[in-house]
This record gives sequence, C-alpha cells and structure tokens, in this order.
Amino acid sequence: MPVIEADAVVVGGGATGLSAALTLGRMGREVVVVDAGAQQNRAAHTMHGYLTRDGVTPADFYKMAREELARYPTITVLDGTVTDVATRSDGITATLEEGGLVTSRRLVVATGIADRFPDVDGYAEEWGRSIFSCPYCHAWELRGRRVAVTGTTPQMAIARAVHLRGVGVDTVLLCKEDLAAQSRHAMERLGIGVLPGEVTAVRGLPTGIRVALSGGPDHVDVDGLFVVPGWEARSGLAKVAGCELADDGRIRVDRYGRTTNRVIFAAGDVASSYSVVSQVVRSAGDGSQVGAAVDQDLLLEAIRVMR
Ligand SMILES: Cc1cc2nc3c(=O)[nH]c(=O)nc-3n(C[C@H](O)[C@H](O)[C@H](O)COP(=O)(O)OP(=O)(O)OC[C@H]3O[C@@H](n4cnc5c(N)ncnc54)[C@H](O)[C@@H]3O)c2cc1C
Repeated sequence: MPVIEADAVVVGGGATGLSAALTLGRMGREVVVVDAGAQQNRAAHTMHGYLTRDGVTPADFYKMAREELARYPTITVLDGTVTDVATRSDGITATLEEGGLVTSRRLVVATGIADRFPDVDGYAEEWGRSIFSCPYCHAWELRGRRVAVTGTTPQMAIARAVHLRGVGVDTVLLCKEDLAAQSRHAMERLGIGVLPGEVTAVRGLPTGIRVALSGGPDHVDVDGLFVVPGWEARSGLAKVAGCELADDGRIRVDRYGRTTNRVIFAAGDVASSYSVVSQVVRSAGDGSQVGAAVDQDLLLEAIRVMR
C-alpha cells in the first residue's frame, strides 16, 4: 500500500481546507489535501459575497483555488475520501478509500457540513438552483422577484420572510398553521403575502419553481423558495480519533482550531468556531488561521527539541 509522508494532512478541499494548505505550503510545510469534492455550495449556480469573486460559479472557484495551490511544490491535492484516522503520540495516519495511507505530524479536519433534505419530491434536484437557505448568499439576485418562504417553525419562517423583504424580495410566507392575528397584520404592513399550506413537492420550471402544497392552494409558482434546512456536521473522522464534539455535532475547538486531541485541528463549518453565518469567505479565513496555528505548533515543537 503506498504511503505518503507529510507535515500535515488536510481532510477536505473546500475554502477552509485549501486555504489552510496554502498557508502551510507557503511556510515550506509538506501538506497533503485529500478532498472528496462535495463542497456544500457545489449545487449552486453562482457564489456570492466573496470579495473579488462575487458571482463566479462554485466549480470555477474551486478550480482556481486548486490552480493556485499547484504552484507550490510543497502542496499535494488528492481526489479521494479519508475513511479512517489513527492517532499516534507524534501524529496521525489517514487511510484513503481509494487505497494508500498518508502519515503526518498534524491533521486538519475541514470536512464541512452535509445538508439534510426533507422527504419532498424534487427537493434535491432544485437545491441551489431555485431552493436557497442563506439570504446573504442569494437574496440580492432575487430582488423584485417572487419568492416563497417556509421554515421548520412559523417564527423561523417569519424571520426569514422579513429578512428577505428588507432586501426588496417580493415575499410570500407559506404557513402550515394559522398565523396569530398580530403576526398576520405585521406581515400585511410589510407587504409580505401569507398563504396557508405545507410543501409536498417541488418541480423546476424553465425559470423558477412550482411548489405543490397541501392544506391551501394546490400550488404556487415562484422564482425561488427559501427554506431553513437541516444539516449534519461531517465530524465522524474526528469522533473516531477521540476528539470531543460540541452539542450540535461540530468538533469542539479552541480559538486556534485545536481539538481535544493534541495533533488534530479543525476549522470551517465542521468546527465549533463557526459563527453567525456560514459563508465561503469566512471558511477561507478560518482555514488560513488554522494553517498558521498548525505551522506555529510545529515550530514550537521544533524549538522545544532544540532546548
Ligand atoms: C446551496 C448553497 C449555496 C451556497 N451559496 C453560497 C454563496 O453564494 N456564498 C457563500 O459564501 N457561501 C455559500 N454557501 C455556504 C458555503 O457553501 C459554505 O459556507 C462553505 O462551503 C463551507 O466551507 P467548508 O470548507 O467548511 O466546507 P465545504 O465547502 O463543504 O468543504 C468540505 C469538503 O470536505 C470534503 N470531505 C468531507 N469529508 C471528507 C472525507 N472524509 N475525505 C475527504 N474529503 C472529505 C467534502 O467533499 C468537501 O469537498 C452555500 C451553501 C449552500 C448549501
């Protein structure tokens, strides 16, 4: 079985992992990124909110990022999936599904989160095309267009609808339960339409989406549907390696991205350092920080040995 040796292995090649690798590679650290290629925004047509790259396709963004890394002889990016991580006192060994091992002194887990789709026909196909979750990423492009909003609770849906209306989106709130009179009046005052009904299926239209409903009109045709999706942290590898998880399943880290395992770091959406909103630019920043933290950790180790 082929074995690659490195200073650090980064699992995940989203903005977090690639950015961590760039920082480490530029410090002369031998770094191997293993990436399964399922970045969370892959399904979206465009990526927004990233200074200098607003409006590029996610595919182009990750291609550009990998091209930049390819300039550094210290950085290797492998397409693959890490299935297991074994820790030693001085590092880790990562096993690749495709065969082969990578041994390294430090591990960065940058595996992101996976979206969980409700059992609604057509949902997965429309995800990122006409179903969105993040107003910061996709509201601006829908200004003046008709968008339906649903949420796991009426409060969540109301908050999302008010948020979108504030950006100038023509918003209609879908409610499976009757809204209290006070909320209904508030929606009217803001120009937010309210329709009774629960989403049972969705189907892409040449432009927009048909949302089939139960408990209200048969369907509504809109330019987009905003939802509050479920998700799960891809923290399985860290758990296997004995790292502590936070209550929401993310990997518990300190401000330097250190987990409870001395040789394992985590960053981006999979880590508890996650803050107000999940965006690529934040992940890139987090990745850059954790890359520097790993580099300094290796530096301190080298200095300790000199004493
Ligand atoms: C539909 C949609 C649209 C979005 N649009 C925007 C937008 O316009 N602008 C914006 O800023 N943000 C957007 N986001 C949010 C953005 O995608 C996330 O904030 C960002 O991708 C998180 O980066 P990350 O590096 O933490 O994780 P990811 O980008 O999800 O990267 C994690 C990587 O790790 C890999 N991986 C996981 N497990 C393993 C393993 N065991 N072995 C190897 N590789 C593994 C995955 O395949 C993936 O490639 C959007 C999200 C969604 C769902």
